Amino acid sequence: MSQSPIKTIEISRLHIPFTQSIKVAIGEVMGTENIIVKITTGSGIVGWGEASPCCPYITGDTADTNYQTAQQLAKLIIGKAAVAIEARMAEINGFIVGEPSIRSAFDMALYDIAAKAANMPLYRFLGGERREIRTDLTIGWQETVEQTVAQAQAILDAGFDAIKMKTGRPGLCDVPHVKAVRELAGPDIAIKIDSNQGWDYPTAIANINAMKHLNLDYSEQPLKVWDYEGLARLRDKVNLPICADESVFTDKDALKLIKQGACDYLNIKLGKAGGIHMGLKINAIAEANGSKCMIGCFGESRLGLSAAAHLAMARPNITFLDLDSAYHFKSDPVIGGVTYDEKVGGLLHLPDTPGHGAEIDEIVLQETIKI
Ligand SMILES: [Mg+2]
Repeated sequence: MSQSPIKTIEISRLHIPFTQSIKVAIGEVMGTENIIVKITTGSGIVGWGEASPCCPYITGDTADTNYQTAQQLAKLIIGKAAVAIEARMAEINGFIVGEPSIRSAFDMALYDIAAKAANMPLYRFLGGERREIRTDLTIGWQETVEQTVAQAQAILDAGFDAIKMKTGRPGLCDVPHVKAVRELAGPDIAIKIDSNQGWDYPTAIANINAMKHLNLDYSEQPLKVWDYEGLARLRDKVNLPICADESVFTDKDALKLIKQGACDYLNIKLGKAGGIHMGLKINAIAEANGSKCMIGCFGESRLGLSAAAHLAMARPNITFLDLDSAYHFKSDPVIGGVTYDEKVGGLLHLPDTPGHGAEIDEIVLQETIKI
């Protein structure tokens, strides 16, 4: 039964607006144009995957290119064994080097099928056991410090213990925002900053020095995506861990960053890595170097976040979680899967149903194509 071949693949569009747009140094996201992949095997096991190509300036793909590419990828793997994930992903990765968001959706659906075939929740299929996992919540760029503080207050009121702040503004303009949030939050709340490549080297030095008494966890992607050497120089110069995000897509990137001493932490996002199979490799490389990982997201619904949460639960080296995209959704199209605790802000609950446990209410899906 578990060797049952892939029988059909359905590709659909999912549009959900956010309650508030998220503005960062390199773009703004108002809502999400995601692609949903539903793979059904001959024995009737269904696997669900989601692509969220909302940031083409990071991943180089869009909902339109994902939608087209998905149809080609479907034809490539139909009729073949779903549970042979490494083989299927080698075919998919060999077909196209770009389009990581949609490659991730296929990977996620295949892992969903494999875990269901094994009758295990995905984290257990990946060799993990239940542990507490908790996400931060992100504050995007606000016009004024007062607006930033209001957002931080709402996050604290919701009971979160970690705040991620989008930085990367010109000059030292970030400093009063971060300082005000630390003063509001007190000493016990974790604060991380993410500049999304917005600083150059001297600006990064000046900002991190100006924030050195604010007890931050780390500085994420302070410099441009390609500037590994700058990251390494910065890391030598400041007393704050450096986390690579846009600079790391694959295991090869992770290895190069580590060899160059360019970062302390690596941010895995399934939509950059092309899925769980690559996320596991990045984490293994980080772990071998004694480096922690974080796991982040783009604009996934609780479907894509469920896959990421299972990976995080299965690998304790994935220490920092930023899986907050669905927190901003105007409506929730997902049945099952990961949920946010209603009292303890950021605490994530994963069901023990087989697979990643999430599926989409198909009534909201649009332009479905069946291969
Ligand atoms: Mg980031």
